Amino acid sequence: MSDRYQGFVQTPIGKLLVKNLGLPNPVPLERYADGEPLVDGTVAVGGNGRLAESLPGILDLLGIASTQTADAADKYKGLVFDATGLSSPSELSALRDFFTPLLRSLEACPRLVVLGTPPESVEGSERVAQRALEGFTRSLGKELGRGGTVQLVYVAEGAEGATASTLGFLLSPKSAYVSGQVIRIGATGETKAAEVKDHLRPLGGKVALVTGASRGIGEQIARVLHRDGATVIGVDVPQAASELQAVMKELNGDHLTLDITAKDAPQRIAHHVKERHGGVDVVVHNAGITRDKKLANMDEDRWSSVLNVNLVAPERITRELLDQKAINDNGRIIGVASIAGIAGNVGQTNYAASKAGVIGLVDSLKDELKKGITVNAVAPGFIETKMTAAVPLATREVGRRLNAMSQGGLPVDVAETIAWYANPGSTAVNGNVVRVCGQMMLGA
Ligand code: NAD
Repeated sequence: MSDRYQGFVQTPIGKLLVKNLGLPNPVPLERYADGEPLVDGTVAVGGNGRLAESLPGILDLLGIASTQTADAADKYKGLVFDATGLSSPSELSALRDFFTPLLRSLEACPRLVVLGTPPESVEGSERVAQRALEGFTRSLGKELGRGGTVQLVYVAEGAEGATASTLGFLLSPKSAYVSGQVIRIGATGETKAAEVKDHLRPLGGKVALVTGASRGIGEQIARVLHRDGATVIGVDVPQAASELQAVMKELNGDHLTLDITAKDAPQRIAHHVKERHGGVDVVVHNAGITRDKKLANMDEDRWSSVLNVNLVAPERITRELLDQKAINDNGRIIGVASIAGIAGNVGQTNYAASKAGVIGLVDSLKDELKKGITVNAVAPGFIETKMTAAVPLATREVGRRLNAMSQGGLPVDVAETIAWYANPGSTAVNGNVVRVCGQMMLGA
C-alpha cells in the first residue's frame, strides 16, 4: 500500500506546505541492503562506564568506524554513550554535555544509543540515575526527526561482551522503524553471547520455522532469515498452499501446510522438524488474525478463533517443541505481539488479549529456558500490509502519522528485528518485547 502523502511532501509545493502549516514530515527512511556495510559513516562514542573500554573493539569487529574524540565540526551517522558510570542524578548532565554539541552534526537517519545498567540491579542514587535514562532517550527519540532513532540498552553486569549483535542492529538501517525502546541484555539468564563467525550470514547452518509465511510480514521474515543464511521452513494454512510453496521454492526452503490450531499441529510440527532437519534453531510465531467487534457484539467464534490462532497455538507449539527437545541449544523462540496488546484498541478486546498474552508467554518462559534458548517478542505498530490497507482511510491516516516517523513501517522492519533476536550472538537478549512502531504515541 503506497503512502501518497509521503510522496507529496517530497515535491516543492509539498515541502512548502509542510514548512508553513507545520504538517507531519515523513522523511524517506534508510533501509539495509544485503552486502552493504552496517553503518555508512562514523559513530562517535562517549561516556565513561564499564563498557567504554570494549566498545571501540566491538564496533571494529562489526566493521563500524568509530571515534572517541568527537568533534562538532565533523559529521556522524551514530552516537553511542556509555552511561553505566553515572551513579547519581547530578551526573546525568554528562548526557547533555555529550549529545547537545553533536546533535547538529548528524547525518540523515542517525542512530543514537545510550547504554545503562539495569536499575533493579543497583541501589540508591545510582538506581535513580539509571532509571532517569529512560525519560531522556524516549524524549530525544521524539525530538530527533530526520528519520533518526534513539534507544536505551540496559546491559547487566557480566554481559559487557554480549552487546555486538544488538549494537549492529541498533546502529544500522536494520532498525529503521524501531525507536524509543528500552532493551535489556543479560538481565534474565545468560550473559554470554555465542560466537558469530560470519556477520553477513549469522544464521548459516541454522533452521528457522516461520508460521504464516506465505504473505505479508511472515513472508518478509522468511526472506530476511534466508538472507542471513538460514534454511527456512514456512508454515501456512492449506488455502495458502500454492503461495507458500512459491515463496519457499524461491528461498530453497521447506514448507509444511497445516492449520496451527489443529489438535495435532504441535505434534506434526515437532515430528517434521526432527525428522527432516534434526531439530530447529529459530521458531517465529507470526501467523495471526483479527476479527474486530466491540465486546458488546462479540460472538463466540470471533473471540475463540483470534485467541486460538494468536495465543493458544503458539503456546501449545512452543511447549511441544520444548518437551520433545526439538529446539536446538542456543535456540530462539520469537513471538509477534502488537502495539494493541500494550495500549489496547477499540473493537479489539479479543486481539489485544491474545497479543498481551504473547507478552505473557515471553514472561512465563524467560526464566525457565535452558541451554542458551531465548524467548522474545516484537510488537509491531502500523505496518503497511494488506491487513492495514483494509482499515478505513481516516483511521489509517491516524495510525500512519501518530508516531515519531510520521509514517507506517514496512514488513521488513519487523523482519529485521526478528533477525536480530535470531542472531546466534543474541543469547543474552532474553525476555524482551521491542516495539516496531516508529515510536508511536500510543502506549508506553
Ligand atoms: P496477514 O494476514 O497478511 O498474514 C497472516 C498469515 O498467517 C497468512 O499467511 C495466514 O494464512 C496465516 N495464518 C492465519 N491463520 C493461520 C492458521 N490457523 N494456521 C497457519 N497459518 C495461519 O497478516 P500480517 O499483517 O502479515 O501480520 C502478521 C503478524 O503480525 C500477525 O500476528 C499480526 O497480528 C501481526 N501484526 C501485524 C500488524 C500490521 O500492521 N500488519 C501490526 C501488529 C501486529
